[in-house]
Amino acid sequence: MEKVFEVKGLCYRYPEGREALCGVDLEVFEGESLVILGPNGAGKSTLLLSLAGLLKPEGQVLYRGKPLAGLKDPRRLEIGFLFQDPDDQLFSLTVFEDVAFGPRQLGLPEEEVACRVREALSRVGLEGFEERSPHHLSFGEKRRAALATVLSMKPRVLLLDEPTSNLDPRARRQFVDFMRSLSETKVLATHDLELAYEVADRVALLYRGRVVHIGKPEQVLLDEVLLERYGLEMPLFARLLKGVGNARKDYVAGLSS
Ligand code: ADP
Repeated sequence: MEKVFEVKGLCYRYPEGREALCGVDLEVFEGESLVILGPNGAGKSTLLLSLAGLLKPEGQVLYRGKPLAGLKDPRRLEIGFLFQDPDDQLFSLTVFEDVAFGPRQLGLPEEEVACRVREALSRVGLEGFEERSPHHLSFGEKRRAALATVLSMKPRVLLLDEPTSNLDPRARRQFVDFMRSLSETKVLATHDLELAYEVADRVALLYRGRVVHIGKPEQVLLDEVLLERYGLEMPLFARLLKGVGNARKDYVAGLSS
């Protein structure tokens, strides 16, 4: 399988002196959904920003075999980034202008731009929102509009920073379903273990600036000792799953004894 990202020995220190990444090694494969899981301050956002080329860390980030730092447009524009705060992504007077901004940067004809905006808004369920002001949308709608600004670029890779934070249960469910319907390569940073369970093909645990474990979601999320060691709490759903599993095991063991 093609490696989309190959990260080796990534280190990043913020100007104020805090070392946020200290030797991250990671691979991301074509078409997979990789969740970077870790407690607050683990370095998740810093890692995602590094994959997007928005920070210049020490070490190596290869994108499809080439150094990310030297990558030119349009290759670079294949990587879409969803900021944790939609207000960082929305800056125009109308939703249309915001979603059209990227395609216009690509120099596409206005007809194609309009087509891309329509398609992106329809994918996120915001048809008819073109003339609305992004700043008057609900938080959930803002997040979807921000996602549309990413999708209108037709990225091959999506980097999503805490994409479910502050969403109500229904908006969260819609987002999860949408993620599962996307075939693009995805890297999601979150501390939401349930999200990891629902959308990840693989989970990378990040702790104090290092990838400390990589595994399948069902393996990582049901391992209470592992989660505790790296500052995470096993969520209720995982406890229940585990409890059910154990109860069944006990029952079967009882039958055969
Ligand atoms: P996470 O996304 O896992 O919560 P971050 O990547 O945001 O972690 O932060 C990693 C570390 O870097 C934290 O200790 C945080 O305080 C620090 N940090 C993050 N952003 C900045 C910044 N702009 N300036 C200084 N330190 C920062």
